[in-house]
Amino acid sequence: MPVYSYDTYQDLRKSNLSSASKPPRKVGYFKLNDGEKAIVRFDYDTPSEFTIATIHEVKVQDRFRSVVCLKDKRDATSTCPLCESGAPLKERFFVRLVRYSVDESTGKVTPVAEVANWPKGYADVLRARINEYGSLKDNLFTVTRMGTGKDTKYDITFANPVKYSEANGYVKDFSAFEGFELAHHSYMERSKEDIEEFLHTGNFPFHKKNEGKEGEAPKQETSNVSYASSAPTPSVTPTPTTSVPTEPARNTTTYSPESSTVRPRRTYDI
Ligand SMILES: [Zn+2]
Repeated sequence: MPVYSYDTYQDLRKSNLSSASKPPRKVGYFKLNDGEKAIVRFDYDTPSEFTIATIHEVKVQDRFRSVVCLKDKRDATSTCPLCESGAPLKERFFVRLVRYSVDESTGKVTPVAEVANWPKGYADVLRARINEYGSLKDNLFTVTRMGTGKDTKYDITFANPVKYSEANGYVKDFSAFEGFELAHHSYMERSKEDIEEFLHTGNFPFHKKNEGKEGEAPKQETSNVSYASSAPTPSVTPTPTTSVPTEPARNTTTYSPESSTVRPRRTYDI
């Protein structure tokens, strides 16, 4: 709108002000303790919408951060300074979901947008649920955590739609994920230069676009990480190469278990 009236200008200014003053909806991290369960609604119609990232977990100023690996399957190890330093690789499935929080005194049900950071294998579990029930957005599931650390398992079962109805507060509300980017929330996508700086200084260079709690991993999910040491020493120590998967998929991809040769943002055909 290159030419417009003063009234329109004022309207535009008002709408800009109101959108600027509106606090962004916060997306949290999905956490359960051993034995706990939650009713959730997953934000996926099809497996092609899943996001799987090959990451390194590093400790930055006492917090674990997930940093996307720079190395593709055919790349030399030197492509990724964290691979070169011996940091283990993990393939994680970052799962957008709405957890229903129930107030114990009033019974009021509130939808809370969260991201779960789960091992890649849970993409197959959710794919099986889609095959069985159709869009996950239309259904509710009970997630139960069993075990701790590396023995953690999540049981994901269909929840009774009569017991957990929209009328009772289990509404289909994914609005918190509008404009949401995992890359600014659950993991960091950094350049080789930035990662090299981290390895030398223990900190990533500050970039304005990376403000916020980018890449912060929930402590519960990373408690078994053993290679981190305290800052400012770079928080990665080499581990035996046998623990590093030989065929890492390229960084942040959508779900595609059959092929790891395709470039990022590939889709999964059902
Ligand atoms: Zn790497």
